[in-house]
Amino acid sequence: MASPWESVLRDEEAVRAVAAVAVDAALLEGVLLRTQGHPNTSDVVNFAPFTLLPSAVPSDLFEQAYAVQQDFNLLVDAISQNKEFLEQTLASTIKVDDFTARLFRIHVQVLEEGLAQSVFLGINRSDYMFDCGEDGTLALKQIEINTIAASFGGLTSRTVPVHGRVLKALGKFEEASRLLPNNPSKGLALGIAKAWELYGSPSAVVMFLVEEVQRNIFDQRCIENELWNRNIRVIRKRFRDVFEKGSLDDAKRLHIDGQEVAVVYYREGYVPTNYDQQNWEARLLLERSKAVKCPDIATQLAGTKKVQQELSRPGTLERLLPGRADAVARLRATFAGLYSLDMGEEGDKVVAAAIADPDRFVLKPQREGGGNNLYGEELRQVLEKIRHSPERTAYILMDKIKPQPSVNYLLRAHSPLRASECISELGIFGVYVRQGKEMVMNKAAGHLLRTKAVEHADGGVAAGVAVLDTPYLV
Ligand code: ADP
Ligand code: MG
Repeated sequence: MASPWESVLRDEEAVRAVAAVAVDAALLEGVLLRTQGHPNTSDVVNFAPFTLLPSAVPSDLFEQAYAVQQDFNLLVDAISQNKEFLEQTLASTIKVDDFTARLFRIHVQVLEEGLAQSVFLGINRSDYMFDCGEDGTLALKQIEINTIAASFGGLTSRTVPVHGRVLKALGKFEEASRLLPNNPSKGLALGIAKAWELYGSPSAVVMFLVEEVQRNIFDQRCIENELWNRNIRVIRKRFRDVFEKGSLDDAKRLHIDGQEVAVVYYREGYVPTNYDQQNWEARLLLERSKAVKCPDIATQLAGTKKVQQELSRPGTLERLLPGRADAVARLRATFAGLYSLDMGEEGDKVVAAAIADPDRFVLKPQREGGGNNLYGEELRQVLEKIRHSPERTAYILMDKIKPQPSVNYLLRAHSPLRASECISELGIFGVYVRQGKEMVMNKAAGHLLRTKAVEHADGGVAAGVAVLDTPYLV
């Protein structure tokens, strides 16, 4: 996509001057990360990486992404309640992927014991790229949906004034006034607050379950502060704390440090390295409890890449959302080609096609957090090695989305200023609350635009590849 800022990009001196303004604005607005060297103190902090200029986003695709978010909320929630669907869909995966298998075992155990939880809270982020067809038309295509620990809803609200300041410094006042306000952390906090209220114990707390390494704490604090503003207490604990001090009473209420926990909001627990044996035990304790888990383990499983691939099979959406033809059509319109590598003829054909033309595809394992996908020559080599082995069922195959690059500057602490060819990924935050069978909240809560240099095939902001951005609708 052509940059709306061509004239600015040609003027190196202006870029240099405005980059300094941008960094100060980011620090003032709280676009912050702790440093890699000192991730667990706030004595020294950096600005979180961001683009110098807001990136162009086609307004029709932006609206389409918002319009389908409530459908995705309903879909994820429906999957999480469909034991048979999860069981059938993940059957081949859990034979070869130990992490998914362990999550699945907890899911089954909790269901067998009988769910103590009756209020459900989902916070997700559906991510998209703008695929450029051969005739140059752009289409919204979903990359994935994140149903656990979807991040940057806090910091992203703060890039709007930063980019506004940048545009004004460049004399572009009218353009600055067109940047959309955006505050996902408020919407997400409203969902957490609703779940807390429905849990029905005014003295109970909200527990953020956080990682050992807490570089992205400011993003979480944005949501936390929204809750304190509503007089809801928030505590931050790690799996280790839960293992050592967490307990359930006779009614399966969760207690820690003498406090009852109404809502557990996971910002941890989505990758195998988050778990040792004690952490798995802590996870089981949390899942067995009456506390509202965001997400419960079934909803985490609903966000696996294997589930995403099965959703694209003809008839699956109709089965999961009966009587909702409009929603099904909106959802399906965002799907890229997705292919199962399950053993059998269908899988064999897919593997052969990918080996013959690897640049058309992305090979994805059941992992989150960026940096796990395989592309091009590496994809071909891995598939050739595992093509006749059930190991291949740990992956899914997806059509590669081909967005149009545009030039921007990616600002990072301690990095030289230099123009890059970039591509962007748009995420829409969804939040919903269900009490028993009744949906009591279902909303789109805001957006996140992340941009990265084209030479990186993979990786998000936390992985050090993408940077925060603000959409400039065109
Ligand atoms: P993760 O759970 O690790 O975030 P994703 O499915 O989001 O996994 O993939 C990580 C990154 O890889 C994305 O942010 C995107 O940049 C790139 N990517 C993923 N799928 C595709 C695709 N089908 N086409 C092009 N790029 C993709
Ligand atoms: Mg992703």
